[in-house]
Amino acid sequence: MKTCKMCGQAKEPSAYSSYRRGEKTYLSSYCRPCSVERNRTYYRDRVRASRLKRYKDNPEPARQAAYRWKRENRDHVNAYVKAKYRTPKGRAQELVGGARSRARKRGLPFDLTVEWVVEKLVAGMCEYSGLPLTLEPKDGRRHPRSPSIDRIDPSGGCTKANCRIACLQANIALLNFGQASMDELVEARARTISSQASKEEGSTTRARARRVKRPEAPDTLNKRVMI
Ligand SMILES: [Zn+2]
Repeated sequence: MKTCKMCGQAKEPSAYSSYRRGEKTYLSSYCRPCSVERNRTYYRDRVRASRLKRYKDNPEPARQAAYRWKRENRDHVNAYVKAKYRTPKGRAQELVGGARSRARKRGLPFDLTVEWVVEKLVAGMCEYSGLPLTLEPKDGRRHPRSPSIDRIDPSGGCTKANCRIACLQANIALLNFGQASMDELVEARARTISSQASKEEGSTTRARARRVKRPEAPDTLNKRVMI
């Protein structure tokens, strides 16, 4: 009996292939099934390594082939990208990737992760307004309640401590006009709606007024920058 080096089982000598060195005949260290497996993975790893080396030595042909394939299969690529951006993970990758490159360009600290964003997208609520977020487009364009990364302190970095996920419409308004202007608008609109509601006694309008009148979290920052 001989123990195979790979599977550790003791097997009859006939379970091993043999080879000759001069006068002597030796048994292989691996039983027949194990040596088949070993040869196969050895070959596979060698092929992989040589393909990788060929790519690294001259990446341009492979890149050109990938560009060409994308050009020739544009519909396929577009459908893939669209489907990806409708999943929390795909959208989080897009958001984090964009924030990372902007942070790098501006030399800002950055510690956001895809997992951190995914968790908030799955929760599905704008952390500024409380409105529900959506990953779907609207009329073929970005939805006003698409998620976006909002820096709470615009002079601070792209960090988990300083960022929240806000709906796009809130982020754009805050970016352009700041918190004070936003609060002024929201409060004025809520007052208008509730006075119209008490005049008209319309149940739909009252429901709208109740929704809009939700108080905003106090925030003293005026100048905001979207990242
Ligand atoms: Zn074996």
